[in-house]
Amino acid sequence: DRIKLNIYNDPEIVKKLSNFIKKEAEKLKKTIKIMHICGTHENSIVRFGLRDLLPGNITVIAGPGCPVCVTSSRDIDAIIELALKENIKLLTFGDMLKVPGSRLSFSKAISMGADIQMIYSIFDGIEIAKNSDKPCIFFACGFETTAAPTAAALKDLEIPKNFYIYSVHKYTPNGVYALLKSGKISMDALILPGHASTISGLKTYERFTDEFGLPSVAAGFEAADILLAIALIVKQINNKEAKVENAYTRVIEYEGNKRAQQAIDEVFYLTSSIWRGLGEIENSGYELKDKYRQFDAKKQFNITYTNDYIEHQKGCKCNEIILGNLTPKDCPLFTKRCTPHDPIGPCMVSDEGTCKNWYDGGLI
Ligand code: SF4
Repeated sequence: DRIKLNIYNDPEIVKKLSNFIKKEAEKLKKTIKIMHICGTHENSIVRFGLRDLLPGNITVIAGPGCPVCVTSSRDIDAIIELALKENIKLLTFGDMLKVPGSRLSFSKAISMGADIQMIYSIFDGIEIAKNSDKPCIFFACGFETTAAPTAAALKDLEIPKNFYIYSVHKYTPNGVYALLKSGKISMDALILPGHASTISGLKTYERFTDEFGLPSVAAGFEAADILLAIALIVKQINNKEAKVENAYTRVIEYEGNKRAQQAIDEVFYLTSSIWRGLGEIENSGYELKDKYRQFDAKKQFNITYTNDYIEHQKGCKCNEIILGNLTPKDCPLFTKRCTPHDPIGPCMVSDEGTCKNWYDGGLI
């Protein structure tokens, strides 16, 4: 398997793809902007230095693909306040810990006495709850890739009575579709997400080609995977085509993972959700269906929301970076006041955040 995987980083293959892209790019009539919508793609693009292999008339930008970055301060503030006020244990993924809310992050709340524990999966959380005498609330963040295990666990496992979900799960295709429709994001083509598409499949992205004429190609995470997707996109543009293609056939199926989709449909319904800095987006958030209300922290606890929450501190450009309008270098705080050790905005926290990736990759 290791040998097989290495094929996707083989310098000869990478060189051939890069040369193919350069040749195709000579036929382009204008500079094109390709957006990816997956934080792990940004990680790979920076790690492999792929932007340096592209001709000047092809720009690849990061879009709204980091789940931690689009989790609203409103939810972070509310759950932190509950953790400080009530005798509960809050469970969260590690990359959520340092994300700033309006006033506090989870890390800072721990120093003020809140019982907050990092977990790797919902299954850890369930085990912790079994051994705890406190109510345990899982702050369930992530796109459909993490909504699927949340749903599967609630549907199939014996859940202890003291385990609850606070869902901030979001559904990528609907979020990106709404942003496109509103004109908040624009691009000439899309690289479709590698992880999220394993769940939702590629069928759902046909509306992107049909309604917006966007060539849309799914990519994996190795250097050749991403270059292949870009090569197919440029070829489509030159052929005046706009279709959904799969450059990650070893993992993604066109129809997606039916079992995971069924689990999600059984447990969640889609409703409007606030994306950090981008406002409320219809049909983009997963909430628990009434059948699972006994596990729904939003229904079982007295959670207070305020309207004066702050999505981004003064000077932070995260919302424009998430929309692909700016890069981290356009933010005056990047590497100065804002670093992974002391992040000002959410894009500097997770390995899926654009600012964190550019900082770690030395793009400063
Ligand atoms: Fe926000 Fe920091 Fe990125 Fe600036 S560098 S946009 S403050 S996360």
